[in-house]
Parts: sequence; structure tokens; C-alpha cells
Amino acid sequence: MKIIIFGAPGSGKGTQSFLLIKKKSFCKISPGELLRLELFNKGNLSSKITTFIKNGKLIDDDIIFSLISRYLNSENILFDGYPRNLNQALYLDDNNVKIDLIINITVSFSHIFKRMKYRMVSEKTYSVLDLLNNNVDCIRYKDNDTGFNFLKRIDDKYTIIDKRLNDYNIEIVNILSYYSRSGVFILNVDGNHDINSVYMFIEKNISEFYKKNE
Ligand code: AMP
Repeated sequence: MKIIIFGAPGSGKGTQSFLLIKKKSFCKISPGELLRLELFNKGNLSSKITTFIKNGKLIDDDIIFSLISRYLNSENILFDGYPRNLNQALYLDDNNVKIDLIINITVSFSHIFKRMKYRMVSEKTYSVLDLLNNNVDCIRYKDNDTGFNFLKRIDDKYTIIDKRLNDYNIEIVNILSYYSRSGVFILNVDGNHDINSVYMFIEKNISEFYKKNE
């Protein structure tokens, strides 16, 4: 089974995919996480990609393809943050990766801005720490369980969020209409609710989809 999870930055897509792979045995392909890992490890590409990520710009398709290609043979894949444009969708077709199901999370702008202002991401595991309810706004937070830091993402800044949202809203229309024309089932999810309710809705619908398509 090959699934794509779509959602604007701050929609909770990363959190939901984290929960899904914990429950089901998916290989998660998230170029954003692979890129942050590259930065964390100070890999060859790090200086090139830092500027792009900091400014909320998409990385060249060729770099993304080279990062994800080794995972495409997996039987069960959850794509998170991919494809970001039509060319990336076509790359999957060219590599015989047929998408079965799309999860499309939509969230209101006000929720997104609030969530991104208060979220932090583990520098190593990429789990998200939500400081919204604690009313704490800091740039570094140590996780005593793992010893790793939770950091503000370099692209979670007000002006950059605005750009990332605009770019997302333009591209997603083309990508969804491409998959809709190809007959892929699109599960629309209202992401304005709490994490658990959103997860239960997605989980229930994926299970039903599995049953129907076994
Ligand atoms: P994300 O973690 O998915 O929000 O991605 C963070 C940043 O990584 C994006 O703003 C882009 O700069 C880059 N990125 C992530 N996924 C892609 C992709 N599929 N294509 C190009 N750039 C990407």
C-alpha cells in the first residue's frame, strides 16, 4: 500500500504520519526530515539546502529524487511532504510507484499560525513538541528522556510561514487534480480537531479502505 499524506505546513501532517507509522508498518518517506537529518549531520548538501529551507523555498527536484530513490522499492510507503509539485508526482509514476490512497488534511489559517508559533521539533527524532498549552516560548528545550534538544525549526518564522502556505496552496491544487483524474481515492480530513480525534478518523478510514481493496 502506498499512501500520500498532504497538509499545509502546521496542519499536523507530520504528527499524524508519526502516529500512523507507529501503528502500521510503513516506510515513511519525508524529504523534509531527510533534509533536516542532512543538516544535523552536516552532510555534503547542508550548505546548499540551508538557504533554501531558511527561506521557505523548495529544494531542486534532482536533490529530492536522489534522497528518496533508495526507499521507493518498499512495499508499504507513507509519503509525507512529497510530492510538492507535479514533476515529483510524475517521478513516482516513472518509477512504477502507484499511489493507492491520499490523505488530505485541511486546517484553518488561524490554527496553523498558532501551531507553528509554538511547535518545536526534536533535533534527532523529529517528534513535535507542542508548547501551546504551556504558554512557553523558547528556542531550545531539552528532552530529559532522550537527552536530545527540541528546537524551533529555522523555517517556522512568521514571514516564511506565509510564503510556505501560499506556495503550498498553489501547488496542491494541481497535484490533487492530477491524482483525482488518475482515479486515486482522496480522503479529506478536517484537521481543526485535536490530534487524537484526527488520528482516529484517519485510522478508521484507512482500515475501511484496506478492507474494500483487499
Ligand atoms: P517539511 O518538513 O515537509 O515542512 O519541509 C521543510 C522544507 O524542506 C520545505 O520548506 C522545503 O524547503 C524542503 N522540502 C521538503 N520536502 C520537499 C520536497 N518534496 N521538494 C522540495 N523541497 C522539499
